[in-house]
Amino acid sequence: MEKKINILGVKFDNITMSEAVNKISKFMDGNVTKCIYTPNPEIVMLAQKDTQFMDIMTEADMIVPDGIGIIKAAKMLKTPLKEKVGGCDLSYNLLEYMSKHSRSVFLFGAAPGTADKAAENMKKKFPGLIVAGTHNGYFKKEDEAAIIEQINNSKPDLLLVALGAPKQEKWIFENKNTIQAKVCIGVGGTLDIMAGNLRRAPKWMLKLNLEWLYRFVKQPTRFKRFLELPKFVIKVFITKGKRGE
Ligand code: UDP
Repeated sequence: MEKKINILGVKFDNITMSEAVNKISKFMDGNVTKCIYTPNPEIVMLAQKDTQFMDIMTEADMIVPDGIGIIKAAKMLKTPLKEKVGGCDLSYNLLEYMSKHSRSVFLFGAAPGTADKAAENMKKKFPGLIVAGTHNGYFKKEDEAAIIEQINNSKPDLLLVALGAPKQEKWIFENKNTIQAKVCIGVGGTLDIMAGNLRRAPKWMLKLNLEWLYRFVKQPTRFKRFLELPKFVIKVFITKGKRGE
């Protein structure tokens, strides 16, 4: 088994984007629902305080690093990760692969109308892509069985769950034995980007690894979550110190 890279207790797969797409395509040939999460530093910090959430991370079939913060931390701890494999980029790469291999995706999450718009845009971008279904992410507990039935009737190869962290990871974990999808991935705001409601940072900012700054400026309501970033850096330093490096 490949060695995982431990960042404050969350064990990341040391994998490139194309290796991840390849591995997930193999998951799609299997019979067991595989669960994949894409934590960034804020989510790793969330797992420090929420042991149930940390356990869910530990039981994942694949964990990939979303965000330059994780890559830098891995480097600092002298256990470098190959590259950033963000949830949004991974989703786009998978949909491109799936459009060429008659695989189907179900888009679950975000505000009413967003998943439908995302489906429309993705079918235009990746001709041949099969969208098995969509459902928004604002539902009552009592609606859940019907949503799962809708997903199961469409038997998607991939279920993208965009409910935000930690809700999406907890939802996947709780339902993974009833969901008939080959692969479930928690993808945060990805459907908003696919729908065109939210823009990615401009290319130059992506190149300079400043996507986090762009998100901060565009969504200042997330400031509380950004306060976790310095705590993350301090914790990584402490861990480095404890390891005696
Ligand atoms: N969302 C949802 N249901 C909820 C709460 C949030 O569908 O009950 C959606 C929200 O509309 C947005 C996404 O989840 O599309 C959260 O995106 P964010 O970028 O905050 O994800 P995170 O960074 O938490 O993974």
